[in-house]
Amino acid sequence: MGEEVAVVELTPDLGFVNQLVERAGDSFKRCYQCGTCSVVCPFAAEDLQLPRKQMLMAQWGMKSEMMADPILWVCTTCGNCARLCPREVDIPGTITAVREAVLVESGISPELATAFENTVVRGNPLGSPARRRADWAKQAQVEVPIMSTLDRPTDVLFYVECYWSFHERGQQAAQAMARTLNRLGVDWAILGTEERCIADSQRAAGESGLFEEEAAKNIATLGKYTFSRLVTPDPHAFNALKNRYPKLGATYPVQHYTQFLAERLSELPLNPIPERLVTFHDPCYLGRHNGEYEAPRRLLEAIPGIHLTEMAHCRADGFCCGGGGGGVWNSGLVAEQVDERLAVRRVREAVASHAEVLAVCCPFEVSLFEDAVKLTGNEGHLVVRDIIELLDESLASGAAQP
Ligand code: SF4
Ligand code: SF4
Repeated sequence: MGEEVAVVELTPDLGFVNQLVERAGDSFKRCYQCGTCSVVCPFAAEDLQLPRKQMLMAQWGMKSEMMADPILWVCTTCGNCARLCPREVDIPGTITAVREAVLVESGISPELATAFENTVVRGNPLGSPARRRADWAKQAQVEVPIMSTLDRPTDVLFYVECYWSFHERGQQAAQAMARTLNRLGVDWAILGTEERCIADSQRAAGESGLFEEEAAKNIATLGKYTFSRLVTPDPHAFNALKNRYPKLGATYPVQHYTQFLAERLSELPLNPIPERLVTFHDPCYLGRHNGEYEAPRRLLEAIPGIHLTEMAHCRADGFCCGGGGGGVWNSGLVAEQVDERLAVRRVREAVASHAEVLAVCCPFEVSLFEDAVKLTGNEGHLVVRDIIELLDESLASGAAQP
């Protein structure tokens, strides 16, 4: 007797296929199911067949099957799959297009819905009061100029973004950045309460409409002021300002803060700090999506006392923290689908490198990794620090206060 073969009835929804082509192009039609993407996906160990299965379902217009499969919402759009796809399929773009196409009909997790609603109502996904956006500046120990009160052009408009504005650990990083900019004598300012979320992660999670509405508001606000460049600590905001805003008619010179500071390394009077072994986590949206691997490493290597070591996955091969593509707000749904969070896997890798410090430069990462350090019982063995905190420590060490 031969083995019984399950017959799957395919009912291609060609309208759905065309919708995906309109949103993300037709590269998904080139997929020949080699499976490379599923092997290099950070969720490979979970055997979810992500994203090979989604590409097949997209080709066949299997809209209702895709809507019914929660795996659609697990992808972090980290881009490691697309990097190695032999058919150059825009996998994160296709997954985002599917999310956009089914968002209203399929429903989303309550956590994601709350993040979207908070962004609309309060201008940030955390749900913090908009009027408190610049409260972090009160503890910065230096003056933090606000564009609207400065009433003149500036060199740098520092786009603080939401996690550095509102999250307790992010605020500490923002304060360190303010001190560093003042030490450098940079002519800078922030938007203060006029700033709203750039919402690139909401876009990657499927809310392109929300992204465009926020972009229109942000472009109008930025249009009121004259500045030479935007600098931001958030790789997701950096990605949108660099690659998506020009398509909406707004082009600005923009740098991630590590790029801005790496260009000024010779002007930073760095002092020795206690010797420690540090490893660095490449943010997907700074590294893979925008090709910047060196600036953060140059900053770390310049701090006397820091010895840099690499994890098994680094640079283009870096392992996602789990925060992108809406993952930072979708932890409940992801936990139902996977055995181990990506941040936990990454922390295990950092511990295996023997590093004492896990250095980061994306605002999502500090809290994700600090939680993972606790979950893995590594408190006291590994600490998580934003690069700006390490720079600030070095600048303050043995130097007069700013
Ligand atoms: S790597 Fe590319 S061609 Fe191979 S299965 Fe994945 S999407 Fe298809
Ligand atoms: S973008 Fe990242 S998480 Fe999403 S399918 Fe590709 S490798 Fe997996």
